[in-house]
Amino acid sequence: MSDNKIFSGLEHVGFKDSDLKDLSLYEKEKKAIEDAKKTSPSSLLYEKTIVCPVCETTFKQLALKSNSYRMISKDSDFFIRYATINPYFYDVYVCEHCGYSALKVDFNKISEKQKESVISNISTKFKSRTYPKEYNLSIAIERYKLALLNATYINSKSSTKAMICLKIAWMYRLSEDNNSAELEKSFLKSSLEGFNVALEKESMPVYKMNTFLLMYLIGELNRRLENYDTALSWFSRVITTPGVSTNLKELTRTQRDLIKETLEQQNAAKEESTEISTDDIDSNEDSTKSNKGFFSKLFGE
Ligand SMILES: [Zn+2]
Repeated sequence: MSDNKIFSGLEHVGFKDSDLKDLSLYEKEKKAIEDAKKTSPSSLLYEKTIVCPVCETTFKQLALKSNSYRMISKDSDFFIRYATINPYFYDVYVCEHCGYSALKVDFNKISEKQKESVISNISTKFKSRTYPKEYNLSIAIERYKLALLNATYINSKSSTKAMICLKIAWMYRLSEDNNSAELEKSFLKSSLEGFNVALEKESMPVYKMNTFLLMYLIGELNRRLENYDTALSWFSRVITTPGVSTNLKELTRTQRDLIKETLEQQNAAKEESTEISTDDIDSNEDSTKSNKGFFSKLFGE
């Protein structure tokens, strides 16, 4: 239907077709998509000057201009999908001099002891490389892994390592490579391991997540890893705890229902396969019967 016909039939309440002919239902959305196509990602980036807290060298890092990205949707484990440019690609700072790497938000949170550990474990081996003017998925994964390697050597908090693993899992979710689904799962698993420890040992909030949000995330990671019983028990804790926001409870119920649906489908599939095998037995019986009939006829029994 053309846009100018959509609003026809409203003349009795004061809107004539001729007045509405230039009105387009999705004008704003179409314009936004057109604008996004015209924008080149590199125009949304700039070089930010950073001082490395480990070696005190000044270096430049690609960063996103504020408000340059546009959110499309959010996955149930908080992964945000963006149009035009992917802010996750620029989420890690890597010091090109000493190799110290960390999530942007954590870059300056480093103790003297941890600095020594970077110098002895990372800087001695690190080889700097020149990155292009715009990052892609494989560069993003490399930079996240460098941050994870640093976090492991300097004994960062479990939540830090878990968050980096989660973000690496998200990057594999965007990838179309053959083994990316498997790699996503393995990083989700490592992330879950860290968040389990964080919930038990760390003071909240972690990465803007309060206890309930983290409990939900732990449930959701379990769901994605098909640990349905564990997921259900975390979800039910979130749902039954007083003081949890209505939004979070609603999201948790949706994910709980998803598990129930999956389990019902699995059970139905199981029953169906049992039915098929019963049918097979029945049809064997039938064929025996008909065989019998056939032989009876043959031998005149
Ligand atoms: Zn440095």
